[in-house]
Amino acid sequence: MMSLTVLSLPQRFKRLLQAMTLAVAVVYMTLLLYQSAYGYPGMQPQHSQVDANEPVAATHRDQLLQDYAHSSTPTQPAAAAASASPTTVIIRKDIRSFNFSDIEVSERPTATLLTELARRSRNGELLHDLSQRAVTATPQPPITELDDIFISVKTTKNYHDTRLALIIKTWFQLARDQTWFFTDTDDHYYQEKTKGHLINTKCSQGHFRKALCCKMSAELDVFLESGKKWFCHFDDDNYVNVPRLVKLLDEYSPSVDWYLGKPSISSPLEIHLDSKNTTTNKKITFWFATGGAGFCLSRALTLKMLPIAGGGKFISIGDKIRFPDDVTMGFIIEHLLKVPLTVVDNFHSHLEPMEFIRSETFHDQVSFSYAHMKNQWNVIKVDGFDLKTDPKRFYSLHCQLFPYFSFCPPR
Ligand code: UDP
Ligand code: MN
Repeated sequence: MMSLTVLSLPQRFKRLLQAMTLAVAVVYMTLLLYQSAYGYPGMQPQHSQVDANEPVAATHRDQLLQDYAHSSTPTQPAAAAASASPTTVIIRKDIRSFNFSDIEVSERPTATLLTELARRSRNGELLHDLSQRAVTATPQPPITELDDIFISVKTTKNYHDTRLALIIKTWFQLARDQTWFFTDTDDHYYQEKTKGHLINTKCSQGHFRKALCCKMSAELDVFLESGKKWFCHFDDDNYVNVPRLVKLLDEYSPSVDWYLGKPSISSPLEIHLDSKNTTTNKKITFWFATGGAGFCLSRALTLKMLPIAGGGKFISIGDKIRFPDDVTMGFIIEHLLKVPLTVVDNFHSHLEPMEFIRSETFHDQVSFSYAHMKNQWNVIKVDGFDLKTDPKRFYSLHCQLFPYFSFCPPR
C-alpha cells in the first residue's frame, strides 16, 4: 500500500520540477494578458484617464446645479453627464501648457474695482477656469447644433402662469433639453412641465437691479458649468425662433470671443465711475445688448469673464456700477474685456415697434417680444388666431413658423 502513495526521491523531484514549470507558465500567461489589457505602467491607454477624470467633472457640475435648482430632478445629472466631453485627455494636456497670464484683464478702468478682481482671479478661480477653458481648446467641428447651446430664460414667480406657460406651449417644445428657466421660487407644477428645467436661484423677487443681476449671475454660472459652446440669454417675454438661433450661431466660432446682440439705444452708454483715489469721476462709454431682445456669448468669451464675473462676482460688478444686468454685461464685456458687441439685427425687444417686422421675414428673425403699455399692445402683426385668443401673437407666430403643431389650424 505504502509503495503506491509514497513516491521515491527522484519521482518527487520530477513532480516538483513539473509543478514549478507550470507555475512559471501561469505567471507568464497572466503577465501577457495583463499587458494586453492595461499596457505598461506609465503608458496608460487614454480611455482609463478619461474614466478617472469624468466622475470628478460630473460631480462638480452636479453640485452647482444642485446649489441653484432646489429640487433635484433626473434631467440634471443627465445634462451634466452629457456635457462631460470625451475629449478630456487633450484638455489635460492643454491645462499643463496653459499660459496663466492670459486670464488677466488687460486694462483696469478703476483701481478699486479691477485690481481686486484680477488679484482674486489668479488664485481661487484658476483651477476652475482651466477646466472650463480646456473645453474650447480641443478642435471642434465647425458645425453648431442645438445641443451646443445653453438657452436661459429669466422669469419670476408672478409670470409663471402667463409668460412661462406661453413659452412652454410654443418654442420651448423645440429646445426642451437646452432651455433652462431661472426663477425665484419653487414651483412643482412648472418644474414638472419643464421636466426639471426650472431653477430656483433664490434671488429676490422684483424688478430691481440687485434681483435682476442676481439671476443673470446664476445664468452665467450654470452655463459655465454646463460645458456648452454658447450661452444665450432671453427674457420671459421673448419668442425664440430656435432653428434660426442655431443657424446664427453656426456662422460664428465658439472658440472666438463673441458678444452677439442688439442695442436699444442709438449711441453708446456713457457712465461715470467713482474713483476712490481722486475726487474726479471717470467717464466711460460702451455698448450693451438689450437683455429684453436676448443675446449670445461664445464660450471663449465667458471663459475670459469667469475670473472677474464668475462664481457670483457678476453681482458685485453690478453693485459697483449700479446699473441693471444687461448694462453690467456690456460693461464687463466691452469695457473690461475690450470685446466689442457684434450687432445682430435679428434680435428684437419690445423697445422696438413690433409691427414693423415684416411677416415674410419672420422665419429669419431670432427673437420677438411683446409689451402692453398705456392700454396698447406692442405686438407683431401676424395672421392667425384672433386678438382675444392670442393677444401676444406668439401662438399665431408659432403656427406660421411651425404649422404642424397640434394647436395650429389644419392647412
Ligand atoms: N423680472 C424678474 N422679476 C420681476 C419682474 C421681472 O425677474 O419682479 C424679469 C421678467 O421675468 C423678465 C425681465 O425681468 O424676464 C424683464 O421684465 P419685464 O418684461 O416685466 O420688464 P422690462 O424690463 O422688459 O420692461
Ligand atoms: Mn419685457
